[in-house]
Parts: sequence; C-alpha cells; structure tokens
Amino acid sequence: MKHIVILTTGGTIAMRYDETAGGAVPALGGADFRAALADLPLAITVEEICNLPSAHFTLDTLWAIRQCAAAHAARPDIDGIVITHGTDVLEETAMLLDLTVEGDKPLVLTGAMRTASEPGYDGFANLAAAVRVAASDAARGLGALVVFNDTVHAARYVTKTHTQALDTFRSPGWGPLGRLDADGLHIAWRVARRTIPCSRLERRVELIKLAVGMEPDALRQAVARGLRGVVLEALGGGRVPPWWLPVIGQAVEGGVTVVIASRCPAGRVGDRYGYAGAQRDLRAMGCLPAGVLNGLKARIGLMVLLGAGLEGDALRAAWAQIAGASE
Ligand code: ASP
Repeated sequence: MKHIVILTTGGTIAMRYDETAGGAVPALGGADFRAALADLPLAITVEEICNLPSAHFTLDTLWAIRQCAAAHAARPDIDGIVITHGTDVLEETAMLLDLTVEGDKPLVLTGAMRTASEPGYDGFANLAAAVRVAASDAARGLGALVVFNDTVHAARYVTKTHTQALDTFRSPGWGPLGRLDADGLHIAWRVARRTIPCSRLERRVELIKLAVGMEPDALRQAVARGLRGVVLEALGGGRVPPWWLPVIGQAVEGGVTVVIASRCPAGRVGDRYGYAGAQRDLRAMGCLPAGVLNGLKARIGLMVLLGAGLEGDALRAAWAQIAGASE
C-alpha cells in the first residue's frame, strides 16, 4: 500500500466560521483531514506545520514548509507528499518546492476557495484528489503540482487568476498538465525540471510592477537599501520606459541581478522592437529574461539562485534553465 504524507499549513481549506472572530479562521486540524480520507486505500500520515492564513506567511514559513517536504521526500517509506495551503501565496511555495526538493516523488499542493462552514466546501474534494495524484506513478518526476477541481497544473505555469472562483488556478497560455478522472490520473504533457541545491533563500530580492508614466523611484530606493536582485514586472513582452534605463544600468553595474518579467498574465518575455527600453536594450545591459515565469515565481527563483551562491555565467546558465528563457 502506498504511503502519502499530508503536511498541513492552514488556508481556507482549514477554515470555519468562528463567532468570536466574526468570520472564518483556521480551525480544522490533522484529524479532520484524515477522517475525510478514510475510504482511500492508502496509508496516510498527517503532520501539521502551521495553521495560518497564507497572508501571514513569512519567508521563514515558506522555508519551513520546504524543509519539511524535502525531509519527507528523502524517506524511502514515503511515496508522495501533499501540502494543504492557503491559495493566496500557494504558487510561490509551489515554485520553491519545484526548484529545491530533490527526487521524483510527487509534491502536490492543494487548498480550497470555500470554508468548511459554507455550502459546497471544496476542501475535502480537492484534498482527496491531491492525495490520489500524489499516489499515482504518472505524477512522478513532474516536480511540484497544484491540484484543484481535479485539474493538475505544473508549478512553473500555474497562477491564481480569480479572487473567488473555485477554478481560480489556471496556467494561462499553457494549460494544465492533466486531469484526475474517475479511472485515474491522465497527464497530457510533461515538464522538464531542474533542481538547485540550496540551503537558504536570499531575502534581498524585490518585485516591482511598472505602470504607465511611473518613475523608477522604487528601484532607486531598493538599490540604495542594498538589494541583491530585483524582478521588474515590465510592460508587454518585457519593456520599460526609456527613463528607467539609467537606473537599471546603475543597478546592474552595482552587482544587482535584474530580471525582466511581464505584467501580462500570459506569455514569455521577448520582442523584436528597436526602440529604447525594449528587450534588446535590457538584454544588452545584462538583464535576465523571466522566460515563462511570472513576476512572483521569478522572485522566488532569484531568491533560490542567489541563496545558492550562484553568480556570473553560472547564475545566467542556471537562470536560463529554470526560466525556460532563450537568450
Ligand atoms: N485567505 C486564504 C489564504 O490563506 C485564501 C485561501 O486559502 O483560499 O490564502
């Protein structure tokens, strides 16, 4: 019988209305989740890491989840790992696990959009699906997966797209990897994965979103604070207003790694323009393209690579692999 470990961290999947709080708060524990899965023919162990809304997570929380998942992934008696998680920052934890947990065991994140006090609570259905995916041989070697509504997404493509909808998790521009049907898991396409040996996250990495007519003050201030890396969620295919170029240039010359992502919800970074501030300028200055990664995931990726001590050509080569970027 396969052995699946469920690591619980909180989120709406663990929440219920509480009269004193006047709203839903984390309440469900390991025993509640275990009881909901009584019919599955699997050995299941539940371990609580924390019971928090994911808006309360720090980078230490993310790292603690990573350490716990990695420890269980290394155990020969465990076949797969499920992490229950708040949906708000779920894609960032998924990216961290995808990049740093070695081995080919399934790592499956799930959660819920409705609390356990609401009609149509989606938590137990998502949890059961996640456990079935984690127990499936077809999920091995795919890195971290996100399972909601019986749909399976790859960590690097998935994002939370809707504030309330049950099918909030989508992979814009790419689509899901597969589906869990009544007769089992069907994977339509597989993703290549590279893990980075890393014992810490570099915290001095910031994410700045650009808007029309915006001045580069936030970037200037971040560089002055001693930033090591910055992800710019730039315009369209990865462009900045020309008045940002001198500040970006100073950052790169000062040793700051600058990644250019896009504020568009889908698509790789890249263009064919010859005007100032387009991709040609940014790449010539030494900025790294975020490839398929959105800004949130590019930030986690940069924290991992800088935390691993990579620099120069080694950093660029590792970045191209994790971002699926072309130079
Ligand atoms: N507020 C919740 C969180 O912890 C949202 C959710 O789980 O859906 O992220």
